[in-house]
This record gives sequence, C-alpha cells and structure tokens, in this order.
Amino acid sequence: MADVQQPTEGSKWTHHNGNLYVVLLLANQASTKPEYPVTVVYQGNNGNIWSRLLSDWHRSFTFLALGTPRYNPGEEQEGDRYLNHYRCTHEGRMAQGQPVREWSSTWSCTCNDKCPVCNVEIEPYQSDDLE
Ligand SMILES: [Zn+2]
Repeated sequence: MADVQQPTEGSKWTHHNGNLYVVLLLANQASTKPEYPVTVVYQGNNGNIWSRLLSDWHRSFTFLALGTPRYNPGEEQEGDRYLNHYRCTHEGRMAQGQPVREWSSTWSCTCNDKCPVCNVEIEPYQSDDLE
C-alpha cells in the first residue's frame, strides 16, 4: 500500500461515476477494534456528506489532488494569503467532552473555518500573513 495515495483531509478524488469529492476527515483513526474500522468521511460537489470504509476506498476513488479547501471544491481558488489558526472546545455542543481541537489552514482571507469535530464555524484566534 506504500505507493497508494491515502485519502488525507482536504484531498480531492474522483469517483468512477465522474463526480468530484473532497475528503473531510478520517474517522476511527485511533481505533484498535475491528468493529470500528477506519472510515473516510467525504463531501460531494452538491454538499452531501458520505462515509466509506478506508479499506474499500480505492476500489471506487481515483486520487486527484491534495488541498486544504473544505467547501466548494469546484470553486476557483484565490491565492492563500493567511495561515489561520483555529481552536474549538465544542462548548455546549454535541461533541462536548471531546478533546479540544486545534488546527491551522491557509486561506485567502481571515475566514472562519468549521470545526471538524462539531461542525461549528470558528473564528481564527490567530492569523499569520503569508506575504
Ligand atoms: Zn468543535
């Protein structure tokens, strides 16, 4: 499997039906139990979100590109100007009790990003100007 591109967060894939999908996250990565296998969560151009076992992923999907955008995978990208840093405690939400999630991504603005755990929009607590 070493030569096979793995579905990482933000990477783009084409399904053999021709549609474009973006990987949102991989679930169960810490699991050691066979009843919770690693599962790819991904989103189509029309916004629908799906999941599929990682072990079954490459049967239907062809790697297209790495990337950071989570939304509108068909949209034109402006240059990424900012490295935004986000932190979410999932406070008061379904995911409360989960570890605090911190992540960074590059954007053309100091935009909000959605927490990959509780899916709430988070303002960056810090933005580094890349120019
Ligand atoms: Zn959250």
